[in-house]
Amino acid sequence: MLVQCCVCGIQYDVSSRTWRDIKGQRVEARCVLHRRRRRRQTVTASMRRYWLDRFTMEEINEIANAMWPRPSQRSPDFLTASGNGPTGPA
Ligand SMILES: [Zn+2]
Repeated sequence: MLVQCCVCGIQYDVSSRTWRDIKGQRVEARCVLHRRRRRRQTVTASMRRYWLDRFTMEEINEIANAMWPRPSQRSPDFLTASGNGPTGPA
């Protein structure tokens, strides 16, 4: 099922389940590039406990920042450049 990324407009393939979520506006259509930034993770109570038992919030933040650099530390220029979209001029 093809959907269009709500950020860059690229078309990409999703499962029919994801497609229904997007059509039902339960999730936003985001391509792989744009999904990363605001990915909604399913965090269960046991997962939270696992981390909080072992680390403080500060440590968890440090780990998270090391694993997933903040967007400002990346170079997203090629993502924001206009006119180069695969779907042609907007
Ligand atoms: Zn996108």
